[in-house]
Amino acid sequence: MVHENEADVVVVGAGLTGAVFTRELADAGLSVIVLEQGDWPDYSQARADYPDVETTSLPYWQPNPSVRGSAADYPIATDLSEITPNMWNGVGGGTVLYSAKWHRATPSDLRARTMDGVGDDWPIDYAELAPYYDQVERDLAVSGLAGDPAYPPCTPPPNPPMPIREFGRQVAQAHNRLGWHWWPGINAVASRPTGLLSMCRQHGACGKGCPETAKASVDITHWRERSQRVDLRINTVVSRLVIEGGRCAGVECIDPEGSTTVVRGRQVVLAANAVGTARLLLLSGDASGAAAEGVANRSGLVGRRLMLHPNATVAGILADEAGSTAGVWGQQLYSMEFYESDASRGFVRGAKWGLQQGGGPIAVTRAGMYGRGLEKDWGAAFPETLRANLGSAVSWRIQAEDQPDVDNYLELDHDILDPHGLPGVRLHYTADDNAMRCLEWNQERAAESLAEAGATLVKKLPLGPTHSGHAFGTAVMGTDPATSVVNPWGAAHDLPGLTIIDGSIWPTSTAVNPSATLAALALRTARHLLATRRSA
Ligand SMILES: Cc1cc2nc3c(=O)[nH]c(=O)nc-3n(C[C@H](O)[C@H](O)[C@H](O)COP(=O)(O)OP(=O)(O)OC[C@H]3O[C@@H](n4cnc5c(N)ncnc54)[C@H](O)[C@@H]3O)c2cc1C
Repeated sequence: MVHENEADVVVVGAGLTGAVFTRELADAGLSVIVLEQGDWPDYSQARADYPDVETTSLPYWQPNPSVRGSAADYPIATDLSEITPNMWNGVGGGTVLYSAKWHRATPSDLRARTMDGVGDDWPIDYAELAPYYDQVERDLAVSGLAGDPAYPPCTPPPNPPMPIREFGRQVAQAHNRLGWHWWPGINAVASRPTGLLSMCRQHGACGKGCPETAKASVDITHWRERSQRVDLRINTVVSRLVIEGGRCAGVECIDPEGSTTVVRGRQVVLAANAVGTARLLLLSGDASGAAAEGVANRSGLVGRRLMLHPNATVAGILADEAGSTAGVWGQQLYSMEFYESDASRGFVRGAKWGLQQGGGPIAVTRAGMYGRGLEKDWGAAFPETLRANLGSAVSWRIQAEDQPDVDNYLELDHDILDPHGLPGVRLHYTADDNAMRCLEWNQERAAESLAEAGATLVKKLPLGPTHSGHAFGTAVMGTDPATSVVNPWGAAHDLPGLTIIDGSIWPTSTAVNPSATLAALALRTARHLLATRRSA
């Protein structure tokens, strides 16, 4: 293919937001060059059909880039961060690994400052986002049941909900007795054949390479069959933004042969996630010899306000075998009983719970889902104990909203370099007290939930250093250039020609899984760009 080095739009990152945005622009007739540092996922590595799936799938589908260490992964130091960010650097981005739990933000999520005096209000409200949610839910074959009372009335998901397995039914019945909210999981997993996706066969391997491609990862839904106007260049690392005459005119990138090229566009769009985008803004300042604080950073907030979604787990063993070795890995059901603020609990904001199966023998063992220290079980009796608990282990995964704080940040680290000699990043992150109180309180309730479901052993896994596939806030959006990096359409206040569409622009983290809102926002920005371009 002859590479033109100029397009209407240059997009950095072929993950979720880059995919949604690019499709919309290309369908409207614009030329788009997409630069992605990683490769296509290799589904020959998907092992769900083999009994060795748990032992053989991890090196390839490892979610922690520092452990995985593939050629596309840049160094991320987390010694000063309580949470390690998980991600996938390649076509599809995080959706290659995601569990596809699909959640809209609630109206209150976008108004935390007004309602609870914390964080910031978003410059957008739920009603404005709703039509974009509707569209991306169709594009990602979302399966679920309409009418969840935790949300305003909305368009039903395009596919019916996934069947709930026995363990889910037992916990749902417990919530009925407690009078607590539960709802069948809404997942970006096809419950019937949709486009290039086939029907989910409930392998429970969403995070380890879905073998029948039923999970809506955007490498399949968006990048496989793309418009001819899209020039997707893989294994191509963007090393800095090119700024000419005070405008972002393109990017400099290193192609698979190691040559450095400049790719120009009338708009440069960053979709590199909240870690990668901030890194690139900081790298661009460094490389141009300008101030170390990077570009588009008059506010001083690039890389600051990092949010990573602290989370906690409560595991339990149900009384009998309940089919919990398999099932769609994205939540079987969820509860938002304690999602909205209630100051009497000793914290503001709330948490979302997602019910997950225990998985196979290694998952059950590693997560300590027996409800007691595993060391007691080692020895001759171990296989029998394991067998007795397989199929009945379940867990509530609890996720809290963390508050934006300028002292949680990422910076370039010149001591850890990627294969091209570019600095990696060091994260500084401590979860706020409010979020930790919220997690502790919700763990108590989740333990009550599993006990009510008849769990014989219930264990609150220790709160502490953990991992998360969600990152936000490092280039916050707002109306005031003194206190934000981009405007409500993602356009950089200080750098014409630059737009940011990933989670770095989120003012607050919400407590729900982010992909629905990321996709909806990316679509909204694409439509805005098209509308303003036509009227210009
Ligand atoms: C293990 C895991 C489980 C998850 N589960 C869920 C879930 O159940 N529900 C949910 O809603 N969300 C989930 N997520 C989160 C979700 O996947 C991400 O929020 C989403 O993919 C982010 O989209 P994005 O476009 O901002 O970035 P990404 O999808 O991360 O894509 C960014 C892309 O940019 C590329 N890039 C970065 N820097 C450069 C550079 N300098 N040059 C070229 N390319 C670059 C990267 O290689 C990457 O492909 C999960 C994530 C992980 C990792």
